[in-house]
Parts: sequence; C-alpha cells; structure tokens
Amino acid sequence: MNKTTVIFLSLFLISPIFAVDDRVTITPMLVEQGKTMKIVVNRLARGESVRGKFIGRKIDFFQGDNCQRGFVGIPLEQKPGKYPLHLTIDGLAGGTKTINKTVVIAKGKFPVVSFWLKPAKNKLRSRELINNEWADVEKVLVVKEPVKRWRGKFSFPVEGPTSMVFGVIQKVNGKPSGRHRGYDLAVPEGTVVTAPNEGKVVYLGRLKAFGNTIVVDHGLGVQTLYFHLSKFLVEVGQVVNRGDKLALSGNTGISSGAHLHWGMSVNNLRIDPAQWTKVEM
Ligand SMILES: [Zn+2]
Repeated sequence: MNKTTVIFLSLFLISPIFAVDDRVTITPMLVEQGKTMKIVVNRLARGESVRGKFIGRKIDFFQGDNCQRGFVGIPLEQKPGKYPLHLTIDGLAGGTKTINKTVVIAKGKFPVVSFWLKPAKNKLRSRELINNEWADVEKVLVVKEPVKRWRGKFSFPVEGPTSMVFGVIQKVNGKPSGRHRGYDLAVPEGTVVTAPNEGKVVYLGRLKAFGNTIVVDHGLGVQTLYFHLSKFLVEVGQVVNRGDKLALSGNTGISSGAHLHWGMSVNNLRIDPAQWTKVEM
C-alpha cells in the first residue's frame, strides 16, 4: 500500500463527505410523465435544511422526523430523458453541501379517448368560463401548509369502474380537447364520496364548468379535488379522516355522464392520484 492510498483510505473512513449521497432517497428513480417523485434527505443534523431544483423549478422541502421531504410533480408535457437533480444542504454555521443526482423521466402511456357531450353541456366549454373558475380553485392549490396530514397510501374516494385514467388525450365531439388531468370513476349519481386520507376541506364551489367542487388539503402542497358532485356533506375548514363522507357524486358541470372526477395537485401541478393509492408517498 503506498502513501497516497493510505491517505485516501483514511479520508474515506473519517470524512462524512462520502456519506452525503446515501442520505438521499428518491422514489421512484425512474418517474413517468404525470407522476410524483418523492425526495427524502435523511439523517439531518440540527439546523440543517434542504433546498433543491429540478427541471427549472424550485423544490420545497418540509421537516419530518430527522429528515426533510420534497415532492415533485412531473408535467405531462415534460420530454422523456435524463435530468439533473440539484440538492443543497445548508448547515447552521453557513456551510453547504451539494448533492447532484440524475433522474430519468419516462414516457407515460396515454390513450386517445373520444366522447360526446350534449349541446347544453358542450356550451359550458368556454375558455373564459373555465379560466375564471379555475383561477378561483387555484387559490387553494398554491397553499403549502407545512403539516403532513396524510398517512400511508391513499384510498380511492369511491369504489367503481375506472372510466378515464389520468393524462388521456381527449377528443370531445370530434375535436381535440387537451389532456385529462384527473382520474374518473364511473359511479351512479348519489354515490357517497369519502376522504382518501386525512386532510382539511379548503374549498367548496358550485361551478358551471367543473360542477360542484370540493378541494381537500393534505398538507405540504398536496391537495385532492372532486368534480361534478351532486351534494356537499362537509364545510370549509372541516378536518376529515380517511373514510369520512365528503359528498355525493353526480353529473354537474362539463360531464358526459354520472361519474366522479378525482384530481390531485402537487405544488399546484395536476398529477395522477392513482399512483398515491399504490405507493406510500
Ligand atoms: Zn375527469
């Protein structure tokens, strides 16, 4: 063993620099368009905080037990490929550590689905109306409560057949009509819609385009959305637990038949809620 090797090995044994990288867990490492990626930085020392950047956006990190977590939604339109993830750990004394990782964004599978709307429903598809109503809903989607209310995987808010998955390329009355930014469950009008996890009701609205709408805030910039409802069974400000009744499903707003449109928002980006029923985030 020469002198250089000895120095290198002792550095390896004493220096924490070599251990910085394995403090980070990324779930999943290969993430599809429209899905969520969770980043956890573990074993943080007192006063250390994390910041990060990915695909040109800042990642907010929130305090957990001995760790900090950040959630990143992958836009449906993001080109598949390898992207750098930059993380910085700021220490109390002003020192910083940087961690660079590579994340692969994979192409999602999104079918084209055609459906028909009756003239009375089709009339509601005005850009102006949709934008105005969405601006109202969005006010609660930009909120990042620093409390993680959810525990474990999410449950589906109703039991029923899937009628349209997230990200579908929609054709309405024969014309292209953008992407489907939710998960549809075909249930008869009047089906009880329950909370998929713990959260706080932050929005109730009788909207023309989205129909009767509820938003539940689960904390850390994560919300779930419920469209086309027939009846509200909660009030704004109410804290709900998994399984608590939120509403009755319906067919209000731009809807081609009775169903629940279940949406999810991470950091004000609509992502696939079905992933959160399969993986604990
Ligand atoms: Zn839908």
